[in-house]
Amino acid sequence: MNANAHVGQLGLGALLLPSQATPDSAADVPISNLVDSASVLAPAEAAPDLNEIAVSSRFYPGSLNSPPPQDLVLVTTDQVFFFVQSAVLLAASRNFFANCIIPQRLAAAAARGQHEITCIHETSIILNIVLHAIYDFPCEQFGPTNHNLIATVDTLAKYGLSVQTYVTSPRSLFNVLASRIATDPLQFYALAGHHDLYALASRASVHLVGHKASDIPMPVAERMGPIYLNRLLALHQARQEALKAILRAPPAPHPPTDACGADGHAALARAWSFVAAYLIWEMRPDMTTISLELTVGRLSRDISCPLCKTSFHARLAEVIAAWASVPRCI
Ligand SMILES: [Zn+2]
Repeated sequence: MNANAHVGQLGLGALLLPSQATPDSAADVPISNLVDSASVLAPAEAAPDLNEIAVSSRFYPGSLNSPPPQDLVLVTTDQVFFFVQSAVLLAASRNFFANCIIPQRLAAAAARGQHEITCIHETSIILNIVLHAIYDFPCEQFGPTNHNLIATVDTLAKYGLSVQTYVTSPRSLFNVLASRIATDPLQFYALAGHHDLYALASRASVHLVGHKASDIPMPVAERMGPIYLNRLLALHQARQEALKAILRAPPAPHPPTDACGADGHAALARAWSFVAAYLIWEMRPDMTTISLELTVGRLSRDISCPLCKTSFHARLAEVIAAWASVPRCI
């Protein structure tokens, strides 16, 4: 099916909707007959059947109270009708909504007091999210999957919609994407990288600091692109270098006492070095301050000198504070 195909071209020419929702001839089909339910979206595989037309639960006749008029009906591949405002879509789109909206046809339909009806080569699930993005309505209530959301972002350009405009805070589409990041950060990072959506990528990167570069599948790396892949690798590298620097200095020695002198200090420094090397070797960039504290803190159990212990804890507090301040996102 061509994305530009119109209902009339598909043999549904008898379907004429009066724009005022009142049939003015026997040939017209009143909207009330078309709407089997204003609360459902049609099942994805719904068979085309004029007797069982499903209408969007958000974009039904009269659902948009303020002007401009809902003069355009978009019909998806699974036969769900969306009553929208052509003026809003035309203002949002750079390409007449994938050239599905033809002003001359709109004008002709308006002159007849009818809706313009256009078939869209898109499923209702995706078109629903696209329209919610344009109108900045939240769409979480429909329970879109991550795949649906990602596919929608990928399809925005097809309808002449700026990804940079609609996937930016505080737009509704950005918000729903951001709310899902933790469930699949790598895919959302790749999506963000592909479309150069830095804010989204930055949020996703927080969840990827423990993700080894070698675990990124090649197709995913290719999708995010070299710039965002490099940013992620640079984040990992920076955190590793930061941890090395933070752990480098051992606890400060205290003035020698009868019980603890140079030998005790040297032993403490050696033990610290051993733990630091272990941490750097084993380090995962997502290591939390808690795990760091637990690992390094085990040392203190073997310190018998109270002064060494005080010095150790002071140094440990410095390490923990410094590690907490190391950036966790690109
Ligand atoms: Zn000591």
